[in-house]
Amino acid sequence: MASKVYFADMRSKKADQTISKKIKNLFDAAAMQSVISEGDFVALKVHFGTGENQRHLRPEHIRAVVEKVQEAGGKPFITETTGMGLASIRGTAIGCLKMATLHGFTQETLGAPIITADGLKGLSGIKIKINGVRMKQVEIAQAISESDAMISVAHVKGHPRTGFGAALKNIGIGCLTKTGKAPLHLGKKPKIDHQKCTDCGICIPFCPVGAIQPSKTKPQITQKKCILGCGCWDVCPAKAISRWGELHYPRNKELIIRNVDAAAAVVRHIGKEKVGFINLAYDVTPHCDCADYGDVPMVPDIGIFASKDPVAIDKATADAIINSPGIRGSAAEEINAMNPGDDKFLKLADWQPFEVFKNEDQTREWRLQFEVAEKLGLGTQKYELMKIG
Ligand code: SF4
Ligand code: SF4
Repeated sequence: MASKVYFADMRSKKADQTISKKIKNLFDAAAMQSVISEGDFVALKVHFGTGENQRHLRPEHIRAVVEKVQEAGGKPFITETTGMGLASIRGTAIGCLKMATLHGFTQETLGAPIITADGLKGLSGIKIKINGVRMKQVEIAQAISESDAMISVAHVKGHPRTGFGAALKNIGIGCLTKTGKAPLHLGKKPKIDHQKCTDCGICIPFCPVGAIQPSKTKPQITQKKCILGCGCWDVCPAKAISRWGELHYPRNKELIIRNVDAAAAVVRHIGKEKVGFINLAYDVTPHCDCADYGDVPMVPDIGIFASKDPVAIDKATADAIINSPGIRGSAAEEINAMNPGDDKFLKLADWQPFEVFKNEDQTREWRLQFEVAEKLGLGTQKYELMKIG
């Protein structure tokens, strides 16, 4: 059976057609209230964007969802998780909150508190056993794991490794702790190259679990102790610690599959009937919101999607982007994907700026996320698009 996906375009020709109003109408049309019971703590899972990346969600659009959740009797809080690497821009709760403020997301603009779900250093979460396609255990960020209900408010964009990122990515890797995210990306633990190491000692106190210890020669990483993901490679001035790229799985499809495993775990933990999805398909850039720069969007603003099915909503969103003409002067022109029907996400595999992320399959298997999500019972690729004004 097809799932219903509700859609409103981005046109605003009069005062009652603002995007915030459209989001509220979609919330009602998709009966999103039904995931919320009186007094529920409701996580609004978002991404605040990174650094100088201006292609992110708008505070007033999240606020529209906050108001609807409050109207439904829920207690909303806005949440995201720390990025990989303690030294990265969004590597700690402090960095995440600084970034949120820089981009205009505050309690005042959102109408609800901001909570970094995986704690100060991104290490607070609960491990849950799952029977995923690859993952047997995932670590869900603490505040998300304690939520009674969740509304995913995802910014839609491309991604250098998964090709496409929307609801499944927002509730998959986006809901895990820093160390929970690591095994989705990385297949190996770091090592120190003693030929390059200058024995400066910087990495030793940096490691939060004491996995890097001095030895008779130079520091060593105890692989068993290493929890991965905190990014000692970023602080080594001699580049002696294995780099991110060297640790990554040789095929990007591993990240695609593992992300969906994580999404299934999060949905099962909170409860399938307690999660709703809103996709905001504007500023659709090739890079994800973790990039600290924002390119020209590949397609004109598409619109807003709402559904209770994360697979159907992502499939409907991706189809709309593919069926849109490309924007001149954007990556769409550079990858020769200007015509409606051109698969922008597939063609990103050969986009020059993604060369640095190069893996065996690049973004070529991006549609796999839908197949895996169906297999794990997250939803269906069959959808009925319900257009509202
Ligand atoms: S050695 Fe492992 S646990 Fe320690 S900082 Fe590096 S990645 Fe993190
Ligand atoms: S930071 Fe790099 S150079 Fe310094 S001790 Fe650690 S591995 Fe060696």
